[in-house]
Amino acid sequence: MEKKFSKVILPTALALTVSVSSAAYANPQSTPNGPYIEDNQNISLSSYMSNAELATKLQKLEASSNGKMKLEVAGYSNLAPDGYQTEADKGEPIYVAKFGDNDPNKKRILITAQIHGNEQIGAEAAIDIIQKLSSNGKEVEEILENVSIWIMPRINPEGADNQYEGKWYPTRYTHQTWLPENIGLPADTVAPWYYNSDGSERAQNNEGRVVYGIPGYDQNRDYNPNLDFRVENQDLSEVASFLNSQSTNNSKYGGFYVTAEARTVTSVFKEFQPDVYVDVHHRGFNTVSDEDNRSVPVQFAAVVADPYTDPFTGEQYEVDEDVLTLAKQVNALSALTLQKGQSHFGAVQKYPDVNLPGTALGAFALNDTSIMLIEIKGQSQTLGQKQAGMLKETVTQPLFAVFQGLADGSIYEVDTQVYDDIPEASNSISDPTSRN
Ligand SMILES: [Zn+2]
Repeated sequence: MEKKFSKVILPTALALTVSVSSAAYANPQSTPNGPYIEDNQNISLSSYMSNAELATKLQKLEASSNGKMKLEVAGYSNLAPDGYQTEADKGEPIYVAKFGDNDPNKKRILITAQIHGNEQIGAEAAIDIIQKLSSNGKEVEEILENVSIWIMPRINPEGADNQYEGKWYPTRYTHQTWLPENIGLPADTVAPWYYNSDGSERAQNNEGRVVYGIPGYDQNRDYNPNLDFRVENQDLSEVASFLNSQSTNNSKYGGFYVTAEARTVTSVFKEFQPDVYVDVHHRGFNTVSDEDNRSVPVQFAAVVADPYTDPFTGEQYEVDEDVLTLAKQVNALSALTLQKGQSHFGAVQKYPDVNLPGTALGAFALNDTSIMLIEIKGQSQTLGQKQAGMLKETVTQPLFAVFQGLADGSIYEVDTQVYDDIPEASNSISDPTSRN
């Protein structure tokens, strides 16, 4: 996710030298709360999972779960502009690991990760969660008796496994080309604003852009509070003029559901109707405050969208009060779980205030589901695997606490004031190499 205000440039740095190099880190970090990245460091990403490795891992976990986990292909990434024209347009499978079914008598939680392909640790944390839920033990048993948990560990497989110049080169965006005439729109119709036409990413330390050359979308702007929105079902001339105007083709409105990835996740959401939806992201770097220079490992948010009026139908969407209350309780419990004295873990903040109805979290919150945004520190290309173990824990520990809280009902006792009191985002470090 990105901030509504672009005053501070987030360091979604993409290393020009993403490689398996094992370059020595010349200066081991000298502060207890890093790491910050020194100049000329190469980041080791070699231990990240390819799509094939992820599939193998999930299949093994299903086999060893004693029937607790059912692995399904929910859909496929999409290489065509308008859904699957042919089998050849199908890209990579998008998996959902299901613990329990959509039983309305159970609490239901949906977790997605890697909606942005360059946000790897979310997927790894998801695998850790799946592994633990697949194992035996009283804790897991009690959770799964009362809670159904569906996990989609990698919902942007194209970006996650992108290659550039023969090397693994993960990208934020999906792979897909805007060809408006193929979906009944005039050929000169302007693309949705979240289309990345040249296939490019911000370069390391925000110095220019690297063009990898495959166009695609920011999937996390392609959702719509109207979960059934499809361009082809609308008045096409109305859609064309909406897209052709800058006053409407922007982040204040829902997306166009042009990606198969967003459609797939939404179909899972509709089938499951979760009480809670969690989406795991990566962000930049910052410290707690001028006085407290602990590096913030994670930010949370219970709200990412304002009340919304569908510009095509006039239908109104808003987050119900009880839905917001549970969202705050989920986020508050997560923040509390990470408080361990004055440790790095506890240095959590709230994600900056945003209004993004085209995000998965925004669209689903406006459809009666309590949400939690988890934003892990650092982009994969900046941190590599450094601190990966700790950062995964900032996802898995809160989520297990939420599972337990939902299972025994204790989550409904959490004071929402705890959420309101989580410190606001601050002290962004725009360039991790300069430590300022
Ligand atoms: Zn993200």
